[in-house]
Amino acid sequence: MVSGWGRYPFIEATMLNPASLDEFRQALSRQKHCIARGLGRSYGDSALANEMISLRRMDHFIAFDAKNGILSCEAGVSLSDILKVIVPQGWFLPVTPGTKYVTFGGAVASDVHGKNHHIEGCFSEFVQSLTLMLSDGSLCECSRDNNPALFHATCGGMGLTGLILRGTLVLKKMSSAYIHQVMIKADNLDAVFSLFEQNAASTYSVAWIDCLAKGKTLGRSLFMLGEHSQEGGYLLPPEKHLTVPLVMPATLLNSYSIAAFNALYFHRQRQKEQHRFVHYHPFFYPLDSLLHWNRLYGKKGFTQYQCVLPKAAGLLGMKEILKKITLSRRGSFLSVLKSCGPHNQNHLSFPIEGYSLALDFKIEPELFDLLNELDSIVAEYQGRVYLTKDVRLSEAMFKRMYPRWEEFLAIRIRYGADQKFHSYQSDRLGL
Ligand SMILES: Cc1cc2nc3c(=O)[nH]c(=O)nc-3n(C[C@H](O)[C@H](O)[C@H](O)COP(=O)(O)OP(=O)(O)OC[C@H]3O[C@@H](n4cnc5c(N)ncnc54)[C@H](O)[C@@H]3O)c2cc1C
Repeated sequence: MVSGWGRYPFIEATMLNPASLDEFRQALSRQKHCIARGLGRSYGDSALANEMISLRRMDHFIAFDAKNGILSCEAGVSLSDILKVIVPQGWFLPVTPGTKYVTFGGAVASDVHGKNHHIEGCFSEFVQSLTLMLSDGSLCECSRDNNPALFHATCGGMGLTGLILRGTLVLKKMSSAYIHQVMIKADNLDAVFSLFEQNAASTYSVAWIDCLAKGKTLGRSLFMLGEHSQEGGYLLPPEKHLTVPLVMPATLLNSYSIAAFNALYFHRQRQKEQHRFVHYHPFFYPLDSLLHWNRLYGKKGFTQYQCVLPKAAGLLGMKEILKKITLSRRGSFLSVLKSCGPHNQNHLSFPIEGYSLALDFKIEPELFDLLNELDSIVAEYQGRVYLTKDVRLSEAMFKRMYPRWEEFLAIRIRYGADQKFHSYQSDRLGL
């Protein structure tokens, strides 16, 4: 039985683990339909199919030019493994998601973004080239100059164009492994939006929202900024982790415990503004210190709802969404607000210029009714839902939110991918 990170749904599936090009070809020829799988950190059903091809044994580094910060690796190498090689040499990932336990291939296929999207854009902005295995087993190189349509469809294409086997990434020079972090308390949504605007030039920004605060405190947040420090050297973090050993009873999570946690989190900082010198690990990957934290949501699992609204919808749209969630008394331990820069050229990449909100919800009756209502608000404001977190978006909503889906499908057909690469998600979305 296998699932995405949200542990919903669990399905019976065959997982093939090829290690050589021949084995990949054999795996492809044996399956009518299949989908690539990395480390399974996508929350929903984008990496789920009855037949899956794991890329985890394609985990070799190919080349590292430590002078110019250019790294080539196979697609199953994780960001965690990459950091172990590059940090001691003074380099960092130009874009990183909130967990380092994702593969290079998964980061490309979801075109992940981080706390610097407003400045640097998505992961694919730093990908120079990719090698794909197409549905017939042939290899195809692509980049912005070579097969550009395939490149732009693959970055953010959720594994639906082919198997990404390897790629080349341009890294970011850093002056130390430490971050100068500033935390500012924002009393409500208006205040946190002003902070994002005032700090638009900061390298990293994010806000942790208390999604159950109401009335005048609707949207109260801890707003966090970060800049790479000049001091502290290039130490890697210790490999010590806590683990959630068992699936916890879902009843531990209810509107009271979530409200209490959120209030505690907001008030844990006494001062209005706090400056700290922190290692990059707690700054970028706070959740990675607790392994299997997804078990906290109980047997039925959970889902993350992440949407982005364009700048024009701004405060008004975000207030409408937050009010709906507050009223429902559901919601998440930590909800995250980020600022996004302009959209890139990829057909299905998620970010558009504006604000993105992400919240976790445990799976329970009528949750999807609430999420459907949120979809309508998001679509009304011309925003979209992030596919790598999704497990239930309807085909009609997807096609409204991602108007370039037809172009994407045409590329899928041109490369024969529609005959081979299918996930539960792609079938649900009509791709
Ligand atoms: C705690 C946590 C924090 C996160 N924070 C962020 C964040 O800040 N920003 C963000 O953008 N995302 C974030 N994510 C989501 C995560 O970065 C993406 O879901 C990522 O794609 C997962 O990579 P993976 O290797 O686990 O891929 P999987 O989950 O296994 O697969 C994800 C998708 O990529 C495809 N895929 C994987 N490998 C390949 C390959 N080699 N070739 C072709 N297709 C492939 C799969 O088919 C699937 O469609 C977060 C996830 C977690 C659990």
